[in-house]
Amino acid sequence: MRAVRLVYAFDEEAPGGRDLLGGKGVGLAEMTALGIPVPAGFTVTTDACRETMRSGEVPPSLWAEVDEHVEGLQERAGKRFGDHDDPLLVSVRSGAAISMPGMMDTILNLGLNDVAVEGLATATGNPRFAFDSYRRLIQMYGEVVDEVDGHLFEGELQGLKERRGARQDVELTADDLRELIARFQEIYEREVGSPFPQDAPEQLRRAIRAVFDSWEAPRARVYRRTYDIPDDLGTAVNVVQMVFGNKGDTSGTGVCFTRDPSTGERCLFGEFLLNAQGEDVVAGIRTPQPIEQMREIMPEAYAQLVDTLERLESHYRDMQDIEFTVEDGVLYLLQTRTGKRTAQAALRIAAEMTEEGLISREEAVARIDAGQLDQLLHPMIDPSADVEVVATGLNASPGAASGAIVLDADLAEERGRAGDDVLLVRWETTPDDIHGLIHSVGVLTAHGGMTSHAAVVARGMGKPCVAGCDALAIDLDARTIRIGELELREGDPLTIDGGTGRVIVGAVPLVPPAIDENFGTILGWADDFRRLRVRANADTPTDAAKAREFGAEGIGLCRTEHMFMAPDRLPVVQEMILASDEKARRAALDRLLPVQQKDFEEIFEAMAGFPVTIRLLDPPLHEFLPSAEEATSDAMRRRIEQLREANPMLGTRGCRLGLQWPEIYEMQVRAIVRAARAVAERTGEPPLVEIMHPLVGFAEELRRLRELTERVASEEPGVEYLCGTMIELPRACMRADEIAESADFYSFGTNDLTQTALGFSRDDAEGKFLTYYLEHGILGRNPFEVLDREGVGDLMRIAVERGRGVKPELKLGICGEHGGEPRSVAFCHEIGLDYVSCSPYRVPLARLAAAQAALAEAGVTAVAIGG
Ligand code: PEP
Ligand code: MG
Repeated sequence: MRAVRLVYAFDEEAPGGRDLLGGKGVGLAEMTALGIPVPAGFTVTTDACRETMRSGEVPPSLWAEVDEHVEGLQERAGKRFGDHDDPLLVSVRSGAAISMPGMMDTILNLGLNDVAVEGLATATGNPRFAFDSYRRLIQMYGEVVDEVDGHLFEGELQGLKERRGARQDVELTADDLRELIARFQEIYEREVGSPFPQDAPEQLRRAIRAVFDSWEAPRARVYRRTYDIPDDLGTAVNVVQMVFGNKGDTSGTGVCFTRDPSTGERCLFGEFLLNAQGEDVVAGIRTPQPIEQMREIMPEAYAQLVDTLERLESHYRDMQDIEFTVEDGVLYLLQTRTGKRTAQAALRIAAEMTEEGLISREEAVARIDAGQLDQLLHPMIDPSADVEVVATGLNASPGAASGAIVLDADLAEERGRAGDDVLLVRWETTPDDIHGLIHSVGVLTAHGGMTSHAAVVARGMGKPCVAGCDALAIDLDARTIRIGELELREGDPLTIDGGTGRVIVGAVPLVPPAIDENFGTILGWADDFRRLRVRANADTPTDAAKAREFGAEGIGLCRTEHMFMAPDRLPVVQEMILASDEKARRAALDRLLPVQQKDFEEIFEAMAGFPVTIRLLDPPLHEFLPSAEEATSDAMRRRIEQLREANPMLGTRGCRLGLQWPEIYEMQVRAIVRAARAVAERTGEPPLVEIMHPLVGFAEELRRLRELTERVASEEPGVEYLCGTMIELPRACMRADEIAESADFYSFGTNDLTQTALGFSRDDAEGKFLTYYLEHGILGRNPFEVLDREGVGDLMRIAVERGRGVKPELKLGICGEHGGEPRSVAFCHEIGLDYVSCSPYRVPLARLAAAQAALAEAGVTAVAIGG
């Protein structure tokens, strides 16, 4: 029996899809089946890559299979690979199951050598084209296969252009290019230690191997970590017969989306370059022309392109992002994939495709990347601000950002990690800049179009980007930039507006963005599908109003300590803490009561008709006092000393505080019930009050606190309320059955539960060892951000089972930070919580994530956006 096959031609049936052939391979095979013009070729499977990564050697049968398929290509093309007169040329292109734009490698024009290039020149009657193709091969092969520094080639090309007075590559003649080939070969030989390989099969084998290896390149690893792509997927490799966009003015190459990826508008959106090969557009080295201009220059190919794009979109029922080449007026598609898009575009496309009857409402909701919605809530430049626009570039990724100018990715990472807002300013970005992009607030480039690396990556990350800003020049030695007449130094503040392309000197006031109609439409549909309720964590009437605006259905956590911190109240709070006896403490608390009551009244009114969970005081008292050095009296200094604890997070806080100094919780309960009563009387609508006790670990704690709550509340008869607790200690999860006897509801405090279950300090871990853990793969994700399903999640599951086991009607929610994180929201759906609660700005995201969790349960999932 033959071993597992590792190579499939585009027109062959393969026993797997995207996982086996990669996104690009599957797209090429599907297009071939649809009869769309695609060059012939074959795909080396991800199995082959994984096996190579595992063993360090390519699988033994691989080269024989590759040779067999090259044979097939030769027969079809009537040309031979490595032929000296009219050679068959191929490209090698990576293609993982999940798209990683620009992260891995492509090599074009394989099969050329010193003799074949002359043959190609004669066969095509186009020496310029032949030499241009060969110099590109040497450069790409050198960079990708043998890790020659690309700047050496670029510098040589630049120097030649200067000597010839040429602005564009296309102005170089065949003789110029022949000279360039000789120089490129010298560079290659000097750097690699052997001459440029002349044997075509050797070129191909080494190129395939290099693409496998590029899966492990540092930039690809960083990208995968950022986007949560597993490291063990591997990449497929596509070997494609070359078609040439660099044959002269009836040839060209481009990229195009079936809808505008920034706004979602239904129109062709793309760019092309006349007389060029694909990597010129994607690398952003030459600034291409808008796609509409192709209509005049190549009307027939343009019409064919429009027709093909329509077919592809209705076949895939999603916006497509394609690469194409026109060779002597004939169109070929080289790739199609579901296009990456901004959140704004995603919403518009989903809403319009539903209207067009292409997809259902369920699919529309399932397709939106919940994490990406965040983008829409990004700040914009205050329209009333007086701004000094010094230049305009392409509006490559929306949102505005102000930051200190930084000129390289390493420094951007360093300064960004230190907490500074930095704006990465580059001639163009390359995949090697990815770590800098991650740590910048936005990116500005001098070169490159809307589909350049910087634009694509920034859009995916939801960061503002202005690309192709011609007026910008960068002097890396002097660490300065020049925009027109203006010179700025690294570190100076600069602002970009990725929605309009404006570049503005200095820092500019930003305002929250307006949310459009499509946002409301899709979230409205999401609300129809979700089971989980979504509340907000809000401590002020302003936050409560904002939360309502975003669709919150109540407050899941109102932290009362923030009310204690207000500058007009702090002195009274301090007086309460410093009081030497209960009488003095009660006197101070009596003065706090009316202000707390007023706060609660305002919050109840802002949330009329929806439940409001008020949590009683949680943090240790010393947090309300200044440091010992700043104490203004001996009494204060003594009290600070008394209250000092080595581990305050595990000390006298939460209900421990309320049990020791019951008068504090009594005052708070009194303020709550009085506020509820006042609002009921004023508005005729009694607020839905939930009183929550923090940090309970023992049933006895809550039993006593419930007694306190009921005793005080009974002083204001007629006010209805629920009394419950946070579940934020492992012991509370284990004893959730006993605790439930005194609770009407539980709210998981997963911030503290993560801290206590993992033994990771919430205050320190992220700045210390956790970074090391994440960078070295000990942990895949930050557990304070994405719920640790296996550990913390299991504790939650136990608490749900035990709590509901004794009290089926127990209301369950979550109010830790995880309540606004899509994967964690999905988990909350799975274990049957009633609601999630998160910061107001994340409410829309939680609504969507909750709907997606319900849809996933019903079998509706998003199609992966990839290629
Ligand atoms: C929690 O611990 O998850 C919580 C919501 O409470 P806090 O963050 O206020 O401790
Ligand atoms: Mg807590």
